Amino acid sequence: MVIKAQRGTKDILNDEIPTWQWILENAKNVFQNAGFCEIKTPIFEATELFARGVGDSTDIVNKEMYTFSIGGADKNSSSITLRPENTAGVVRAFIEHNIGRQSPPQKFWYFGPMFRYERPQAGRQRQFHQIGVEMFGIKEPTADCEVILNAVEFLKSVGLGDLEVEINSLGCTKCKNQYKEAIKNVLAPYLDKLCDDCKMRYEKNPLRILDCKNEDCKKIFEIEEVKNVIFSDYICDDCREHFETLCGYLDELDIKYSRNKLLVRGLDYYNRTVFEIKSNALGSQSAVCGGGRYDGLVEMLGGNPTPAVGFAMGVERLYSLVDKKELQKSKYFIVSNNFSETIKLAKKLREKNISADFDFQNRKFAKQMEKASKTSHYAIILGEDEIKEGYFSVKNLKTSTQERIDSFDEL
Ligand code: ATP
Ligand code: MG
Repeated sequence: MVIKAQRGTKDILNDEIPTWQWILENAKNVFQNAGFCEIKTPIFEATELFARGVGDSTDIVNKEMYTFSIGGADKNSSSITLRPENTAGVVRAFIEHNIGRQSPPQKFWYFGPMFRYERPQAGRQRQFHQIGVEMFGIKEPTADCEVILNAVEFLKSVGLGDLEVEINSLGCTKCKNQYKEAIKNVLAPYLDKLCDDCKMRYEKNPLRILDCKNEDCKKIFEIEEVKNVIFSDYICDDCREHFETLCGYLDELDIKYSRNKLLVRGLDYYNRTVFEIKSNALGSQSAVCGGGRYDGLVEMLGGNPTPAVGFAMGVERLYSLVDKKELQKSKYFIVSNNFSETIKLAKKLREKNISADFDFQNRKFAKQMEKASKTSHYAIILGEDEIKEGYFSVKNLKTSTQERIDSFDEL
């Protein structure tokens, strides 16, 4: 039987690679210019990291984790999970290596695969990739501004400068909890009409109810008294000042945004600023980027209290939005029937960082030329005369002009 890729996973082949590489080059440029250093953390971590870090009331932890028990049922067995997101892993590394002792801010960016056991559909895979940033050590809205600016500048660099940012403030532990209570009180009479997920959220994390995509739940949010609570101005003065200052900075930078009171984000660890960047062109899986502030997470995972803010973007969704790039042609294709001279020349060119390829089957020159015009800018013809007399015939494959080049250094 033929073995196929697992459901919800995808091979990224040569027709897609140039665009993927281009997206990553842009990420590297934009984030590195802004002082973010790349960080690479392991693909699997202790299950407990995500249970505590992402939160056990989230869909991710409840339904979507790839969890394995290593070492069988004995007392030394341990439970590990393929990372469903990367903030928890970066925070673990931040604590483990005592990165907080360096002068703040500590700024990181990352790229890599994430794993979630979800129903595969357009824009939703079980192995997908994220590009993200995390910034530690700054409690002021200046950091929120820097992180949002970098998300927007990166999107601009890949030709998606017109996407709008949605932002909201969830408040701090104090005002967020008051809001949660108010939401619970007003929803109490409607509890049995909420979907099963929301019934669970009602107990564990009532704010997540606002994020529900179920039409029946959405109808309940439209009821006047419920709406009044949802849209009430509940955040405390400090949180409001933080939020308004951030909005002021974004205005000064001409970053387009809208305020969305229903934006709560799927993860438990957020406080104050949360934001999302969407594109209508993506259909129902419209979010390209999600992020926010998570001031309590480092402490919750055992580190010193450290404010932090970050975002993650889905690279497959980005890929579907950007202009596609073509495979780069190599500079030279060596057309010859002498393998050892050919591979020696290719090796010398490649050592000079000049791209070179050739035919491996000793085929007729016409066949080799055909391949050359598809894959390369120039053909170096290395026939018997050229080898004997030590020169190269170089053909420009666009203009079909040919010239004689006498020394390797002129290539
Ligand atoms: P969604 O509401 O689409 O499930 P989410 O809130 O679960 O998103 P985050 O955890 O914030 O997503 O992840 C950030 C980004 O990663 C998303 O905006 C999206 O672009 C991408 N993403 C999340 N889950 C998937 C998936 N299963 N397949 C592809 N991309 C994904
Ligand atoms: Mg999700």
